[in-house]
Amino acid sequence: MIGVPGNGVAGMSEAMPEPISDQANIRWACHCSASPILLAVYDRSGRIEVKVGDRYYIAHGHIQAACPRCGTWHTLEIR
Ligand SMILES: [Zn+2]
Repeated sequence: MIGVPGNGVAGMSEAMPEPISDQANIRWACHCSASPILLAVYDRSGRIEVKVGDRYYIAHGHIQAACPRCGTWHTLEIR
């Protein structure tokens, strides 16, 4: 389960001016268990990828996701 706000997302849609060249994805996880539950991956440009079942969702800058294990809602904001 994910929720992507359709309106009022604080503007992070513009490309950042920093010359970041690494494409490393950062893992965003819930730490409710010994092995973290991966909620999404994102990079420093603000692009967020969430995999739900066999579908991918893309968000930019801001996302909410519920941990499939503990049900806690988490909010990710990339600044
Ligand atoms: Zn959890």
